[in-house]
Amino acid sequence: MKKLSGIPASSGIVLGKAFLYLEDDFPELPRYTIEEEQVESEWRRLLDAIDEAAREVKALNDRAAREISKEQAAIFEAQLMMLEDPDFKDQIKNRLRKFLNNVEWTVREISYELIQKLSASGDSYLRERAADISDVSRRILNKLLSITKFSLADLSEDVILVVHDLLPSEVLSMNRERVMGLVMDMGGRTSHTAILARAFEIPAVLGLSSATKEIRNGDLLVLNGSTGEILIDPDENNLNQYEQAIYQYHKMFDGLLALGELPAETPDGHRVCLKANIEIPEEADQVQRFGAEGIGLYRSEFLFLTSGYTAEEEEQFQAYSRVVKAMDGLPVTIRTVDVGGDKVLSEFQATDEKNPLLGWRAIRFCLARPELFKTQLRAILRSSVYGKVGIMFPMISGIEELEQAKELLEEAKGECRRRGQAYAQDIQVGTMIEIPSAAMTADILAERSDFFSIGTNDLIQYTLAVDRGNEKVNYLAQPTHPAVLRLLKKTIDAAHRKGIKAAMCGELAGDPAVTALLLGLGLDEFSMTATSIPQVKRIIRGVPQESCRTLAEKALNCYSYSQVSALVEEWMAKIFSAD
Ligand code: PEP
Ligand code: MG
Repeated sequence: MKKLSGIPASSGIVLGKAFLYLEDDFPELPRYTIEEEQVESEWRRLLDAIDEAAREVKALNDRAAREISKEQAAIFEAQLMMLEDPDFKDQIKNRLRKFLNNVEWTVREISYELIQKLSASGDSYLRERAADISDVSRRILNKLLSITKFSLADLSEDVILVVHDLLPSEVLSMNRERVMGLVMDMGGRTSHTAILARAFEIPAVLGLSSATKEIRNGDLLVLNGSTGEILIDPDENNLNQYEQAIYQYHKMFDGLLALGELPAETPDGHRVCLKANIEIPEEADQVQRFGAEGIGLYRSEFLFLTSGYTAEEEEQFQAYSRVVKAMDGLPVTIRTVDVGGDKVLSEFQATDEKNPLLGWRAIRFCLARPELFKTQLRAILRSSVYGKVGIMFPMISGIEELEQAKELLEEAKGECRRRGQAYAQDIQVGTMIEIPSAAMTADILAERSDFFSIGTNDLIQYTLAVDRGNEKVNYLAQPTHPAVLRLLKKTIDAAHRKGIKAAMCGELAGDPAVTALLLGLGLDEFSMTATSIPQVKRIIRGVPQESCRTLAEKALNCYSYSQVSALVEEWMAKIFSAD
């Protein structure tokens, strides 16, 4: 038996077989010697593979030029030029004749040499071309080997998935029915992969660094997503203990579910609102089971991650309407597209950004593509006739962006009116506070917002300069850091001074360890993964608002995150000692 320890990212305990899903840089390549008379047939095979790859790239190029931008199309144009480059082909032919290796091996050798040469160049343009060569040669090799990659959508057995890294879009497309648990070398608690694992109730342990080296395919694993522990090949004794733990976990969870009907109110009568975050429309059917009083964050970009940014207005309208109808009059806040960072848009997102988290993300992308943005806004507006809809904009860094986004919203309304499409007149427009500059200017943004929603995942990431998906620096992402607390206080106070609500939709809102502190800071609305609602409600119903306020005041006077954490922990232990 061996034990690994990682970041507990999605609670639940499971026992199952490991399925290792690894992606190599290059596929496993056969290497063999050919006869001289085979050179011609190998050469023909190569030309066919290049033709096929070129057709594929051409289609991507056309789509990018039509739907995204000329710059994006230029990436594919460069790849097309390489595929058509006579020098590249000549090199391969000469090498085939000289060394008499099969054509796959020959292509790989030449590509490696070129990539190494370009990567070592002092010229940044040439260094970037190395990525193109890698992509182009991979396409050719895939055609030569007729590789159709194993897709996680085809999983046919129940497994615990063990991966180095998994994109949010892959979580969406995998056969989730068969994934009992997720183990990942990379990732942190607030990475979108973790968020999705929680949304789909898949127990997960992330940030293990070398799980893919320690675990072999078929190993029996016990995964505890609540403690972050993984047992490889557990003995009988471990198995008994884990059976007990599974039983206790379900008992505790069922007990919490019983809180569903009760209001989120402190013993001294302070009422707050608990809502759910969702990523796909189907989730809306389940959230009321956990006591959600609405949807505080619908991450609309996940629709685009599966259909491409070109999801038609009608398709979007159907998705948003489905959520609004499922909530049956309860409020739904739809966040406009937030792509970029770890949410890469199929083949069109720029993959060459040096700092994607500081790059062309969210509202920046939308403001640069006003037509696509307005298509989404019209679809959201139209869905508002079925219930109570709010719109919020992600990654606002200052008032200019908010003004521009609101102007485009007005244009979208005008377009709906001209088309005779109805929309509700009382749609609330909110600003996400998730960049320190927004928190620092919350008083200014509050003037032009109907509500705030604090995105702590990004706010912590940008305040403390900690990549939220990087397991090596995850320990620094401390929500109780005095800098974070001060920004939260500033934001909530600014909202209240202008008479608007301060909500939170980052993962912190669903962390029962800090619920009392957030109540004390004056947060009005907590939006989280639906399954976390009962635990947070349990805390709210046990802590008087007055004493939470005193706790928050003390916390704001602390000088370090460890001091704040110790203070809050001790306070909670006292209040809940009778439990
Ligand atoms: C956040 O940043 O806290 C947030 C809610 O948005 P996302 O996690 O999608 O970036
Ligand atoms: Mg965010």
